[in-house]
Amino acid sequence: MRVIPLGTSSGKPTLKRNVSALAVAGEAEWLLFDCGEGTQMQITRAGLSPSRLSAVFITHLHGDHFNGLPGLLSTMGLDRRTRGLGLTGPQGIREYLDMLERLRVAFLTYPVELRQFNSLAESTVVYETAEYSVSALALDHRLFALGYRIDERPRPGRFNVEQARKLGVPEGPLWGRLQSGEDVRLIDDSVVRSSDVMGAERPGKSVAYCLDTRPCAMAVELARNVDLLIHEATYTEEFASEAQQYGHSTAAQAARTARDAGARRLLITHFSTRFPDPTPLLQEARAIFPDTILAEDLMEIEV
Ligand SMILES: [Zn+2]
Ligand SMILES: [Zn+2]
Repeated sequence: MRVIPLGTSSGKPTLKRNVSALAVAGEAEWLLFDCGEGTQMQITRAGLSPSRLSAVFITHLHGDHFNGLPGLLSTMGLDRRTRGLGLTGPQGIREYLDMLERLRVAFLTYPVELRQFNSLAESTVVYETAEYSVSALALDHRLFALGYRIDERPRPGRFNVEQARKLGVPEGPLWGRLQSGEDVRLIDDSVVRSSDVMGAERPGKSVAYCLDTRPCAMAVELARNVDLLIHEATYTEEFASEAQQYGHSTAAQAARTARDAGARRLLITHFSTRFPDPTPLLQEARAIFPDTILAEDLMEIEV
């Protein structure tokens, strides 16, 4: 799967960084995490198609994380979308959507499968698609905020072409049947089992999305052994007291969460506009967790 940050600035957009949004994209569908103002433009710039968007996940009701939602929902209405859209977030989202429809701000031509929470103390699966399972857990911010974890479903093992040839299976439909797990009978009446030619099932990749939060045990739990942890790093340690006061993390705290969770890589994002050049944030995180990447709008990370 690919991870594409669509906005990496906290609070307000800058000329180089839009406000929070991030895409997790698979082969046939993609998921959107947060939807700050201007996310539609970023979706277009990233070459993502709204018609393939399966679900939106909002972390919390601070404007820089959801002010882009009415526009995006309306555009999909203009596009005559009919496929359902998942929408998960904190309590208040339903009232917000109802109001938009009542005031005729948004016209939805498609069903919205809405799930909202006002507490979530245990990691809970909130959405499932053909490719992914998404779970959520409450984090520690100034107001109720959810973190998310995306687990890709296990993928089938690799097909061993040489072995198939050696066993006398002719190239063609029989290969496809073996690949889909079926055993096949050959012309000479011998049976080739799928397991003879297919490698072991490969575990799916996993990603955790922890924005906005103070460092907390819940973020560590959500990010346990993930391939990529996406974590906010609003400030450097120099501003640790602000981070604590406003419910945010420093780059060092994000790095410790990644380390404690056993994450493979860390992507830091949600930078205070105090840092026009966020290099100090990257340096601070790498001193603790070397496999740290600094998020840039529209970069692509292969997980
Ligand atoms: Zn924020
Ligand atoms: Zn916030």
